[in-house]
Amino acid sequence: MRLLILSFLLTFSVFGQNQQAKTYIETLCSPSFHGRGYVNGGDSIAANFIAKSFQEIGLKPLGENYFQEFNFPVQTFPGACELKMDGESLIPGVHFLVAPNSGPSCSEFGCTKGKSYRVVTCNVQKLFQSTASFYPCPNNVILAVRSFGISADSLKVIKARLRELSAFASVMDVTRDKFTWSVSQTANAYPFIQLQDSVFERMMEGNIELHLETRFLKSHVAKNVLGYVPAKKNAKRKPFLFLTAHYDHLGRMGQATYFPGANDNASGNGMIFSIAQELVKNPLDDYNVIFIAFAGEEIGLLGSKYFVENPLVPLKKIRFVLNMDIMGSGEDGITCVNSTLFKNEFDRLLQLNESGHYLTLIKPRGPAANSDHYFFTEAGVPSFFVYTMGPNKNYHDIFDTYEALSFAKFDEIRQLMLEFIRGF
Ligand SMILES: [Zn+2]
Repeated sequence: MRLLILSFLLTFSVFGQNQQAKTYIETLCSPSFHGRGYVNGGDSIAANFIAKSFQEIGLKPLGENYFQEFNFPVQTFPGACELKMDGESLIPGVHFLVAPNSGPSCSEFGCTKGKSYRVVTCNVQKLFQSTASFYPCPNNVILAVRSFGISADSLKVIKARLRELSAFASVMDVTRDKFTWSVSQTANAYPFIQLQDSVFERMMEGNIELHLETRFLKSHVAKNVLGYVPAKKNAKRKPFLFLTAHYDHLGRMGQATYFPGANDNASGNGMIFSIAQELVKNPLDDYNVIFIAFAGEEIGLLGSKYFVENPLVPLKKIRFVLNMDIMGSGEDGITCVNSTLFKNEFDRLLQLNESGHYLTLIKPRGPAANSDHYFFTEAGVPSFFVYTMGPNKNYHDIFDTYEALSFAKFDEIRQLMLEFIRGF
């Protein structure tokens, strides 16, 4: 009976915590956070929410507050984002995407009407040679390039030509690929649209109407959010472990469409939040543990780069960085970037997984510049970047929603990471 009650209580507390982490993730994905990008102050809403949550669970600030500010330029789409073909409105994120560095359809922000463009399909062979025969391009023409059904090498050339064209013409990249959006530090003068071929086929040459407003932010202020759990004793003299996860995502593409970024990377924030709750209750003897929610990852790892260049603790005192990005599935295990660089730590992780029976696979991977661990590694700070693998392939698209997360191995990964951290 006693045992039963105990196990019931244990289950209950793990369940309660799991639910809290899920609610945290769901909040970060909600429309009022605007995809944690640069329209409607989404990233700063998220930063404030994370700092408040850090404070509530008992993480201490490193300085006067929980923030480290820095800035960068970014192109944004805070207004109209409408594309019509034959009078029919196309669905943003499904039928078309606006390139992250696209220019507007009108020269001034606040234009009330779309602009009509005549669609002219480029001869791909000609374009492969050079862009010369397409120059100059009339202002009311949009050049359509069907960039599929060609070899990977040729496609590279065609994509480069598209970028060249976009310097002097409005461009439409007609594709059969899954849409994958991004965010850019530069802005073109002319519109640059990606369109699904299934839509283009229905229309081919004709007219489109585009209403696209852009605003280039020359020096957007972003904030890394940091909090820590001091070591049990003599914290001032103790080294550090870092747990990191970027919270920024891609934001809005026009006021009607946003990218929730659930797997990438509200999920990682839920994970470090959940681990922080555990460590606050039971701190480590020999390490201070710093939790960082990084800003500006999607635009080029800018938040973690800034931190490494302006570290709030000496880099030499950081024993290990554990970066979490894409934590929402796990049916097929996790991948561990840098496992080949840090053999001992990786072996220990494998052993813990084996004895705890947590994940079906921990796949080793060499160094890669694909998340916030990168600049730490470059600066000589040991690090791992772990991400989950599973059937959820929604990535940098409007379908990366909270509802699409399976949380298949969320608890197991939290437990494994806690054991890994406690083993230093
Ligand atoms: Zn990410």
